Amino acid sequence: MNIHEYQAKQLFQAFGIPAPQGEKASTIEDAVNATKKISGNAWVVKAQVHAGGRGKVGGVKLAKNIAEVKQFASDMLGSRLITKQTGAEGLPIESVLIEKTYPIKREFYLSIMVDRATERVMFISSIAGGMDIETVAEETPEKILTLVVDPAAGLQPYQCRQVAFSLSLQGNQIKELSNIMQGLYRLLLDKDASQIEINPLVETDDGALFALDAKINFDDNALALHQDILDLRDAGQEDEKENKAKQFELNYITLDGTIGCMVNGAGLAMATMDLVKLKGGTPANFLDVGGGTTTERVCEAFKLILSDHNVKAVLVNIFGGIVQCDVIAKGILTAVDEVHVKVPVVVRLEGTNAEKGRELLNNSNLGLVAAENLADAAEQVVALAKEVA
Ligand code: GDP
Ligand code: MN
Repeated sequence: MNIHEYQAKQLFQAFGIPAPQGEKASTIEDAVNATKKISGNAWVVKAQVHAGGRGKVGGVKLAKNIAEVKQFASDMLGSRLITKQTGAEGLPIESVLIEKTYPIKREFYLSIMVDRATERVMFISSIAGGMDIETVAEETPEKILTLVVDPAAGLQPYQCRQVAFSLSLQGNQIKELSNIMQGLYRLLLDKDASQIEINPLVETDDGALFALDAKINFDDNALALHQDILDLRDAGQEDEKENKAKQFELNYITLDGTIGCMVNGAGLAMATMDLVKLKGGTPANFLDVGGGTTTERVCEAFKLILSDHNVKAVLVNIFGGIVQCDVIAKGILTAVDEVHVKVPVVVRLEGTNAEKGRELLNNSNLGLVAAENLADAAEQVVALAKEVA
């Protein structure tokens, strides 16, 4: 799960990580009031969306007076922000963060994550932080420092100093950076975050360090332990179809192809997507309807697939081991009937009660195509999708 920058900065505060004074606003009036509370003669107006890359597309604006704050807030609020990380539809801006500005001397990168390769907590830092960190990582990887924390020993003071020296920090800054790193480490462990990123971490003209940006990802599997984090959830920033899927315990991921896939088992679902690709098609989604599937769940899965308007044909691939093929067949028929499916549906059923299932489909008069085998099913669905398109 992701949270907003303003929420992440509130957590930073609780863990002793310095962030600029700021306030969230959902209306233009709130934005003006927030500005009046923050000292200084310039402010940053930042669009609150669950994505980075805002600075490059007008989602972060420097205002020199209240009239400009008003202008930027009214431009942003109620519109959608499209960044490199959002996809073509962008994300809705329902709030902005108004912040105090600082004269910035240098911009660093600092993040902490659970590294799968070492199976340990890892810090990543760079002296060349800011909006082009991806280019730095690609073209000058020697400017990126990684540091692995031993879980038994915890984060060691010498490790913090090592990062501080790599950023050419001096005197009291070394202690400040150590505090920030210790805060990040505690926050990651206490709240079961999987990644926390500060980009940029800035050094101001008078030498202070601040987290100017804040992104936190939480491990979904641990959220049940953290009601305080769950309360920060903003479903408006999440994929509607994926949220719907969670309600019915379906594993669904939106993709950008034209062939809707309904499969049981994650492995079979991936194999099915590969086969669709191999036959020249593109999957519209990943969907694992799970082992103990009921008619109702198949029905919901079907509705979900068809709510994506890019879907030109649907491929149902079920291997009935735990779930029986005739149950799936009934679910498909109920769904096709209820949702008034207008696109062709190709079904491959195999396993327990496969005959019974196929019989139900063939006798239905709903125009379903029962395929001979998986290769045949993929070929047919790709051809049908092309016909419709
Ligand atoms: P992102 O593009 O979504 O990662 O948004 P950031 O919060 O990182 O902001 C993008 C850029 O805006 C930063 O890299 C800074 O250069 C600039 N920026 C953000 N806040 C301030 C600020 O308070 N003062 C100044 N001068 N620049 C800022
Ligand atoms: Mn950033």
